[in-house]
Order: sequence, then structure tokens, then C-alpha cells
Amino acid sequence: MSAMSKVYDVLILGGGPAGYTAAMYAARAGLSTAVIERLNVGGQMALTDQIDNYPGMPEGIDGFTLGQAMKEGADRAGAESIFAEITAVELQGEIKTVHTDEGSFTAGALILATGTHHSHLGIEDEELLTGRGVHYCATCDAMFYRNKTVVVVGGGNSAVAAARVLSRLSKKVILVHRRDSLRAGKAEQASVPETVELRMNSRVTKLIHEGKLQAVMIADVNSGAEERIDCDGLFVSIGQSPNTQLFAGQLHLDEKGYLPVGEDTHTEIPGVFAAGDLRSKPLRQVITAAADGATAAHEAELYLSQSK
Ligand SMILES: Cc1cc2nc3c(=O)[nH]c(=O)nc-3n(C[C@H](O)[C@H](O)[C@H](O)COP(=O)(O)OP(=O)(O)OC[C@H]3O[C@@H](n4cnc5c(N)ncnc54)[C@H](O)[C@@H]3O)c2cc1C
Repeated sequence: MSAMSKVYDVLILGGGPAGYTAAMYAARAGLSTAVIERLNVGGQMALTDQIDNYPGMPEGIDGFTLGQAMKEGADRAGAESIFAEITAVELQGEIKTVHTDEGSFTAGALILATGTHHSHLGIEDEELLTGRGVHYCATCDAMFYRNKTVVVVGGGNSAVAAARVLSRLSKKVILVHRRDSLRAGKAEQASVPETVELRMNSRVTKLIHEGKLQAVMIADVNSGAEERIDCDGLFVSIGQSPNTQLFAGQLHLDEKGYLPVGEDTHTEIPGVFAAGDLRSKPLRQVITAAADGATAAHEAELYLSQSK
């Protein structure tokens, strides 16, 4: 598609559940709409082979299939998809511009839905085992570990919350943290059941598997001594960061880099809306991202009708 050949009503940045829900709602409202996505349709949810908490799916669904289905719903309503890496944005003014490695695109309104990424351990076979024993979201995946042994990595609030959630279901939970004390707040630490085994001053160095996780090696950060822990699952909870660098300098970001945007999805720039995991919110899930997408499309439609 040639750069600047068309001014869309709405361009949506990111093709996860927030982006494709926004696309479906915007296109159904009669707006010319395109989603710009760099990788895989479905965003982060496409990384998991089982989503068990999306309403209306009593048997659960794999994230890839749900992502494709969300795109098909947007396609059927008339939304386009542009597969390109977004490299820069110009948010001010009546016409907004999105620069990509496939050219530049313009629109009257933008919906920012570039999501977040979970920090990874960066060890061998971590990507291969994602969803096959390695997980990043206990709220999403704890139930697969009923009566099993799991290792949680991290020492902050989210790691402690993961250990707490898992300890309700799993046979054994081992929390591995590289420092000598947890970073989580006092109340959060107090909420961890005594049955959770703590391995401080330790880090996970190796994943042992035959296509599915069987054990991890941990190493003492001081002595380097290694130990094998047999386990069925590993939950990596060492942080999550929003994909908002593109907007820094044009929009206010909070101390963690999220867009401090309320439920109405309005940013401080007229015609620019933010939906999904990249905004400040209490729960980052498929359903909350999809809800934001619907709201953002509704607000964009109102904005465009008032600015004509
Ligand atoms: C392993 C895993 C399992 C999960 N399991 C569940 C579950 O069971 N249930 C549940 O409700 N939630 C689950 N979640 C959380 C859920 O996936 C997220 O809350 C949801 O995907 C957020 O949607 P989003 O559209 O806001 O962002 P994302 O899904 O992060 O999508 C953002 C999209 O923007 C694209 N993008 C970013 N930057 C650029 C750029 N510069 N150029 C072009 N494109 C860009 C990305 O490629 C991505 O596709 C899970 C998350 C993970 C990681």
C-alpha cells in the first residue's frame, strides 16, 4: 500500500484483542479502519495454547485461534490489516501519521493498542517451552497445575501473587528469587502461605525438558552451586513492560511507562485513544483489553462525528 495514499478514519496500532475488537466496532460504525500489526494477529494471547477464562468458551480456546477469530470478525465488518512495524507516530493535529517499515499511513483518529511484553529470563529454550511448562501469567494458567509442582521466579508483588494463586491449587510451590529478601510489599509477603518454599539468592539457569518442562536447574548467586528441581511448571514473574516508547515525548507516561488513561480511553491529545494492556488498569486480560477496544472505537466515532 502506498504511503499517504488514503486518509483512514481510524488507524489502530497493534493487532491484539484490544486492537481487533476496536477494529470490528469502528468498521461496523461505518468508519474506514485499518489495524497495523508487526507480528502475529492476536498479540500476547496468541502465545498461549489455552485460554480458559474468556466468557462463552466453556471448553476454553487456544489464543491463536481466538486471535484469528477476532481478526475475521473485524475483516467481515470491513476493517483492513496492514502488516508492518510501526517506527514513529505524529499524534498532534487533525490528521495523524503513523510511520512504518512499509511506508506511512494517515488517519483522523488513532487507537493505540500496542500492549505490553513480559520480561523473559533469557535462557535457552524459554521461547520453545512457552505454554509447554513455561508461563508468564498465573491468573491465566495456574489451573493447569492442580496437584502439580511449580516454580515461580521473581520477588516482587506479581511473583508473590503468582505463588499465592498457585498454592491454592498446586501440590508444591517453590519461589526462586535472586536477592536475599523479597521486594514485594509487607502485606503481599504476609499473604504467601507458609507451605511455599523459598529459595533466595538463586536464579534459574537451565530448563530441562523433552518438549515439555520436566525440571529446572537453579544456581546460588554467591557460590554458583547448582541444584536440580523437578517441576511441572515454571511461572516467570520478573516484570512486564508496556510497548509505549513510540509515544514517549508526545504523551504523558506513568513511572512504569504505562499510559495513564481512564476507562473512557481518552489520551490528552484529541483524537488519540488508548486501549488494552498499555494503559494503567488493575487487570490485564483478554476480556479487559477487548472491552477497552470497544470503548475506544465508540469514543473515536464520537470524536470524528463532532470534528466534521
Ligand atoms: C503467555 C500468556 C498467556 C496469557 N493467558 C491469558 C489467558 O488465559 N486469559 C486472559 O484473559 N489473558 C491472558 N493473557 C493476557 C492477555 O494475552 C493480554 O491481556 C492481552 O493480549 C492484551 O491485549 P492487548 O491487545 O492490549 O495487547 P497485546 O496482546 O500485547 O497486543 C499488542 C499488539 O501490538 C503489536 N505491536 C506492539 N508494538 C508494535 C509496533 N511497534 N509495530 C506494530 N505492532 C506492534 C504486538 O505485536 C501485539 O500483537 C496471557 C498473556 C500471556 C503473555
